[in-house]
This record gives sequence, C-alpha cells and structure tokens, in this order.
Amino acid sequence: MAIIGVTGGIGSGKSTICSFLGALLQAEIFDTDRIAKETLAHDEVVREAVKREISPQAFGKDGLPDRDLLRRMIFKNPLLKVRLEEILHPRVRAAWRAKSEEVRSSGGHFIVDIPLLYENGAEVFFDMVVVVGCAADTQLHRACARGLAREQVEAIMRTQMPTLEKVARADLVVWNDGSLLQLEAQAKELAMRLGDKA
Ligand code: ATP
Repeated sequence: MAIIGVTGGIGSGKSTICSFLGALLQAEIFDTDRIAKETLAHDEVVREAVKREISPQAFGKDGLPDRDLLRRMIFKNPLLKVRLEEILHPRVRAAWRAKSEEVRSSGGHFIVDIPLLYENGAEVFFDMVVVVGCAADTQLHRACARGLAREQVEAIMRTQMPTLEKVARADLVVWNDGSLLQLEAQAKELAMRLGDKA
C-alpha cells in the first residue's frame, strides 16, 4: 500500500505515466489539475472569491470560467496567479488528502498527479514521490503540440521549480525523453517495486 505523488514540469509526461501506473497497480488516480478546473467551475465559494478577487468577468455568459481571460490576466500579473492558487489549492489538497486517508485505511495504492508538489511543500503527505523529467525542449515541444503558445509555456516553466532540483529531491525519477514504450517499461519497473512494498 502506498500513497504516491507524481510530479514534474509542464508536458513532462505526468498524466501519461499516471495512467500506466494506475492500470498496472489497479490504483485510483487523483488528477489535481482536473479537480482544480472542476472546483473553479462548480464550487460556489470559489466562484465568488474569484469574481471578487480576480475579475468580475471571470465567468462567461454560459456561467463557465473564461479560461482565456484568466490565463491572460495571470500571465500579466503574477500576483493574481498566486491569489488564484491560494483560493483553489487548499480545496484541492483537502480533497486528495481525504481520499488518500480513505485508501490508506482500505489498502491499495493511490496516485496523485500534482504538478506543484514541491513548490507547495506537499512531499510530507506521500509515501513516495516520483519525479517525471525530460529536456526543456521536449517539454516545450509537447506542450506546444497541445495548442499552447511557446511564450506561455516558457512563462509557466519559469514559475516551476527547475527539473533538476526536483530530480535531486525525488524518491524515484522517471526520465521521459524517449518513446511511450520506454515510458511504459519504466512504469512497469516502478509498479513491480511498489508491488514488492504492498
Ligand atoms: P501537464 O503538466 O501539461 O498537464 P503532463 O506532465 O501531465 O503535462 P502529459 O499530458 O502526460 O504531460 O504529456 C504531454 C503530452 O506529451 C501528451 O500529449 C502525451 O501524450 C505526450 N507524451 C508524453 N510522454 C511521451 C513520450 N514518451 N513520447 C511521446 N509523447 C509523449
């Protein structure tokens, strides 16, 4: 049984290895980015705080978050980014911590895909932290292929802890500059090790 945090920079391959590991270990995956998006869209307290503290126009006529506007605003003003994270992160953290306690008492593995794990000092909550790393060029290439502008990706990368610093802190490192098959092979090795610890 283990509570595993998977972290790494934008486009490093966190979600991809989480889905490999989830299948191999039959473990539930908690995607903090997805839950943060859902929280922003549906949590009334969060929505009110965002309207009040970020922008009254933060939600469109359809009631959904105006992600383009928010992205532009936090890109221009880093303080707004910090504020938005302060509104969202405690709620997201409470959700994965509650879930990890549930899994801990029932046995099994639980995997949390959490980009800012070290930046937010969350390592204390995990039995093991896996860092997914790759070259900065690979990160840029992958993130741009998903439709983000190069400057946007570079700006996000500047706000994240450098990959090598994360690597130095990791319990385990997965280097993902190769093929998906190579990544899957690393996931299998990792799953075997975790299986031994079960
Ligand atoms: P983000 O932090 O931006 O959400 P991430 O770290 O979760 O990103 P993924 O979503 O897993 O990264 O991967 C980014 C993109 O790169 C995806 O389209 C994924 O399919 C692709 N990818 C990941 N690893 C590889 C690989 N080894 N070979 C080819 N494509 C890959």
